[in-house]
Amino acid sequence: MDEKIQKLQEYVDEAEKIVFFGGAGVSTESGVPDFRSEDGLYHQKYKYPPEVILSHSFYRSKPKDFYDFYYEKILVDGIGPDATGEDEIKPNKAHLKLAEMEQKGKLLAVVTQNIDGLHQKAGSKRVYELHGSIHRNYCESCGKFFDGGYVLKHKADGVPKCDACGGEIKPDVVLYEEGLDQKTLEGAVRSIAEADLLIIGGTSLAVYPAAGLIDYFRGKHLVLINKSKTERDQVADLVISDSIGEVLDQIHI
Ligand SMILES: [Zn+2]
Repeated sequence: MDEKIQKLQEYVDEAEKIVFFGGAGVSTESGVPDFRSEDGLYHQKYKYPPEVILSHSFYRSKPKDFYDFYYEKILVDGIGPDATGEDEIKPNKAHLKLAEMEQKGKLLAVVTQNIDGLHQKAGSKRVYELHGSIHRNYCESCGKFFDGGYVLKHKADGVPKCDACGGEIKPDVVLYEEGLDQKTLEGAVRSIAEADLLIIGGTSLAVYPAAGLIDYFRGKHLVLINKSKTERDQVADLVISDSIGEVLDQIHI
């Protein structure tokens, strides 16, 4: 067994309150597109960078353009609650191992920057979704809630409308210029502060304010698992530069 995996196994064995903090890399291993990435095709199609399109002011002024992007890059085929078949985006080994850790009483919570709901799909119960979820959507006029399937079904409408009042539906995802949900943030902070082992995966920790959350950690071991370098490599007890799914798959609970 790899020396670093063995070290992680030891940390997991002695831990009682593990918290996992995950970023985009956890989802990309399931085939979820990274909507922040801009390639050549991106510039032919979109006049604005993703941070602009996914901002509150852009959503307000150009909801149709926002939804064009949203449907193509975020609420993609295969990610909805009714998705089945070959296109279905499924939880990967990382999601599954974390759900197992929680079931066996080893893991307190998952804190995630992802909005795809894959942790819940894998069976995790306590998940703090810092940036919201594509599976929750609400009417801006009457407040009625809709799942991601409803929004997907109304793709052809451009901007999905409420079936009760005709109001515009907004995804419950945190856009740029918007603050994080206070309750979610408090739950995440409480869990991290209580953890004895914090495993951070699939993020370079460059996105604030979410990344600042790990400063609340007072536990024993901090582990970073990411394919590339992160901003906190120096302060971690263990750094594993590899796929989060492949690493967690080797851990026995
Ligand atoms: Zn409504």
